[in-house]
Amino acid sequence: MLNKGLRRVVMPSMYVQGAGAIDDIGTYSSALGDKPFAVAGKTAFSTIGPRLEASLSRAGSNLVGVNDSIKECTFGMIESVKAESLDAGADVILGCGGGKAVDTAKAAADELGLPVITVPTQCATNADQMADAVVFNEDHEFVEDHYLSRAPALVLVDTEVVGFAPVEFLVQGMGDALASGFEKPAYARALAAKGPDNLASSAAVEVNLRCLSVLLEHGASAKQASQTTVMSESLELVIEAVKLMSGFGFGGGGCAAAHAIHNGLTSVPGVSRKHGEIVAFGTMVQMMLEERPASEIEQIMQWCMEIGLPTSLDELGDIDRSRLPLAAKKACDPEDTMSNMPFEVTPEMVLESIRGVDSLSESLVRTRATSLR
Ligand SMILES: [Zn+2]
Repeated sequence: MLNKGLRRVVMPSMYVQGAGAIDDIGTYSSALGDKPFAVAGKTAFSTIGPRLEASLSRAGSNLVGVNDSIKECTFGMIESVKAESLDAGADVILGCGGGKAVDTAKAAADELGLPVITVPTQCATNADQMADAVVFNEDHEFVEDHYLSRAPALVLVDTEVVGFAPVEFLVQGMGDALASGFEKPAYARALAAKGPDNLASSAAVEVNLRCLSVLLEHGASAKQASQTTVMSESLELVIEAVKLMSGFGFGGGGCAAAHAIHNGLTSVPGVSRKHGEIVAFGTMVQMMLEERPASEIEQIMQWCMEIGLPTSLDELGDIDRSRLPLAAKKACDPEDTMSNMPFEVTPEMVLESIRGVDSLSESLVRTRATSLR
């Protein structure tokens, strides 16, 4: 039957990736404005600031201001950056660093109606290309996923900067991106079932599935390249999978069970893993919820074990297991992205699937140990 919904695609206007790409930022930035204002974290700006300024200066557009004190993306910080860039007469915003600086820059630019260029310095997130900002309060508690009117004008990824940052960032980024191959198709099916407003384009779904196959094929080799700081085609491909493919076409939306399970699990005392690592675990839980074949779940689990992503509850931290039912309930909060699943999910189903992943992990570890004997 014909679904009359609109096929909506939200993406950055331009994406540039490669070794040394930062040295060209002046050329791209001056095409958008000649009064750039930089927003960054302290470490990120001390790492790339001099190269960024040199490139801008070669293109004849020097920074009109810098805020390199971003530690958290809060509404207060977004307001400060807005006021500072307005005072400085900025006409283009450069967001440099990890997700927090980039999100602050995107949100401030969106409200000012200015173009934003994002320049990531690590690979733990795909925030650089998304049309949203994850906002926290001063106590680092999640406030909201703030949707923006558009995605960045340019995402500039220097693969030597991002790929040779501490390897745990790449591992976390791969864990987060892993979810896209499962969440985006689920979300697309849910949109189609809900109708009649918005649909995912088939291109967006295909690219997110391609992201998954790149991770499975090149993840381990990319990790090795990052550890040995030797650039390789696998590392380039995996960075592209995380930075471009994992959110392709979905703007700020497209999450489903894996992220909702992440959000539930972060409420459990003792969980000590980072966002992307918990999302990887949540992805396997989503696969269980979807009743995928055991061989498919095992394939993803073996890959996670090889990459160093958690596959069992013990690996998530020294957790209080009595809180798991509450976490499962939180994961099914109607406000959260579990509602983007194409079928109804109950807390009981989540709890059972979490335990299912945990026991599958245990049996895989046992099988490995036996085969090594
Ligand atoms: Zn994520």
